Amino acid sequence: MVYADITYASGAAEMLRLATTRPDLASLSTAQALYGLPTAGTCRNADGSSSACQNYILEITNRSSLAHELDRPEIFISGALHGDERIGPSTALALSRWLIERYDTDPWMRRLVDQRIILVMPMTNAIGVEQRRRDELGIDPNRDFPYDQVPSACMQTVTARSINELYRARLLQLVVTFHGGMQAIAYNWGSFNYYQSKPHRSPDDVSQRQVAEQMSKFAGTGGSRTRNTKYLFKTMNDLVYPVHGGMEDWGYAASWDRAFVRTCEPRTYGGYEAARTTYSDAAVRAFTVLIETSDLKAPTADTYGAEAGVYNINSDADGHVPRNVRLSLAAIDLVRPHVAAWREGEATAAAAGSEVGAPVSAGGCVPLQWIVWGAIQVEAATPVCRRDATAAWIECGDTQSGPGVWGGDSTPLTPHTFRGCARVPVGAVGGAYQVAVRAKVDTAWSRRPAEAFAPLMDPQSHLALSRKEGYTADNHGHKVSGHSSWLSAALGVMVAGGSTTPPPSPSPSPAPSPSPAPTAHPIQPRIDLFAFSSDEARLPSSALALALAPDGRSLSLRVSLGRLAAATCVLVTIAASADGSSFGTRVLALWLVPAGVPATSVPPPECVGDGAFSTAELPLPVFPSASLSLSGGFSGWGWRFVRFGNDGATFAIVVISFGAACAVAWGLLRAVSDPHGSKRGLQRLPDAPEYPEPADSPGSQAGGYPPTSEPTTAAAHRDTGLEAEGPRQMKPLW
Ligand SMILES: [Zn+2]
Repeated sequence: MVYADITYASGAAEMLRLATTRPDLASLSTAQALYGLPTAGTCRNADGSSSACQNYILEITNRSSLAHELDRPEIFISGALHGDERIGPSTALALSRWLIERYDTDPWMRRLVDQRIILVMPMTNAIGVEQRRRDELGIDPNRDFPYDQVPSACMQTVTARSINELYRARLLQLVVTFHGGMQAIAYNWGSFNYYQSKPHRSPDDVSQRQVAEQMSKFAGTGGSRTRNTKYLFKTMNDLVYPVHGGMEDWGYAASWDRAFVRTCEPRTYGGYEAARTTYSDAAVRAFTVLIETSDLKAPTADTYGAEAGVYNINSDADGHVPRNVRLSLAAIDLVRPHVAAWREGEATAAAAGSEVGAPVSAGGCVPLQWIVWGAIQVEAATPVCRRDATAAWIECGDTQSGPGVWGGDSTPLTPHTFRGCARVPVGAVGGAYQVAVRAKVDTAWSRRPAEAFAPLMDPQSHLALSRKEGYTADNHGHKVSGHSSWLSAALGVMVAGGSTTPPPSPSPSPAPSPSPAPTAHPIQPRIDLFAFSSDEARLPSSALALALAPDGRSLSLRVSLGRLAAATCVLVTIAASADGSSFGTRVLALWLVPAGVPATSVPPPECVGDGAFSTAELPLPVFPSASLSLSGGFSGWGWRFVRFGNDGATFAIVVISFGAACAVAWGLLRAVSDPHGSKRGLQRLPDAPEYPEPADSPGSQAGGYPPTSEPTTAAAHRDTGLEAEGPRQMKPLW
């Protein structure tokens, strides 16, 4: 497919096509529908009719798992504030198509769509794109933001209001705003208040400069036909010029550099509520980077390039659009690190629980390879080992440093690959083990720049602070959680010399074990709540849905009654630790319907706890959509155990949480067979669970512990309809 200039009509039609062909990955709405904004002007539609111009917003993410990951990073791509600058709209649409249409075949795009929320407005200034004009009905949208601007001259345009509402509603970490007329990647500052004798650098200069450099590097020139040079990357005040009311400085600083932010009092469209330009501490602190795509605002058609040029840099198919699609992909990737590790010589996707490769001896080497995405400098990468998910990760290999995918000569097309050895500890008992790689990356982003900068503050952007351990931010349930180290998915290996069946339960003491350094973060900063069952006849996976409340501290389990074949006993197990480095398994509560009792009936009170839990915490009736609410976090838990005469499968939820913030968790619902037969009543367990590890049970699927892929997730939640709920979902119009 050859890229071309778009019109309002063709752009809208293409967005609609993408949203309707892959509703699992994309949804389309408008700023008018989402935020009640007015419309600016009249636009022509694809069918020849005319109607009020709509400011379209396309949201790209894996929607089936979205409700369960509250800190999935959010990125905004703006195609055009100035409608006569034509490369941006074509690029934003091409990027959307690239992400969505390659989801099934391109592992990189699949990961980005699975692990990011990418909001795209190809025609941010809709009437401007329609009329091929810079302004919106006579007003320049890129002077229309309340930063270094007078109250009467901001939020006059629908374009600026659309962007304002998007920032207010979401928690944007990185924003790319396309323009044209020169070639530049330009970042803060770009206002008169940090101009001339004042430093042009911002407190976030380290991350801004590094990210801009990688965007420039991967973008290249777009091939010889464009006559481009490589993008220069500097501050706007160095490279472009200062403006009053620009989007970039506003988008970066309106939540914290408040001396230059004033509430807008526009007179257009009947005014704009003052509360809409007062900002929370979290809403407006995105790295908002200006791209000047091309010397000509409207380059000739033969320089746009084609899809075949995106990964074929400098080929005949390269051009303005492929170069800026690459630039956008660099930005989207760099928002969050991801360690991809595999056993050398094996498929990259080997998961714990499905051990691959020859068994190794205790003390022997498991040869590993890994790539660190979303990172420039890998400061320390170390193989780690553990007995199983109930044990702490311990370092079991040499620490290395080197380039991430974006460092040195590495690129996403030829990524730098590390090689190392995970050595299962000498003395390890035979059986299944887990290995992984933990990496510390780009910690300099959260430090102040070495050169002069202003104001004299620590870095303020979510992007920079997301590399700082312990940083958290929240805007309407959209979250950022900072980490300085990142763990790969766990890989299963078999250690020779013992029984081939997994051994009995792990360490006798689940108490926090000799803890590794608190900065090391052994849990992936994401939430993978899913459900599966080994007893599909009695409790099918499709009947179960796990969800984490927006506060990240409450877990709910829903069971779809109609999918239950028979009354079922459900065992709930919680594992937690204070620092995330280790956790022990404790049985917190049992929630069940005794065998032989109709599933619709309310279970007898003794089924749901030992008195320590109120019915508010364990709401009844539990069917048809029960919610087991463990509110208040897991920091102060005790444990309770109730078991009823069950003659079949029990099911455990395992939740790992840490700290008061409890920003990260993953859960597992899995089947265990009950060794206690028909024992009834309240029963306290010793620290070590009496029941064997779930994988021992006959008939259980060796399904991974923890899960490293999410194949069951989507299926389980799709059936319950759970994914359609919650504040994270943009309600699509189409
Ligand atoms: Zn412009």
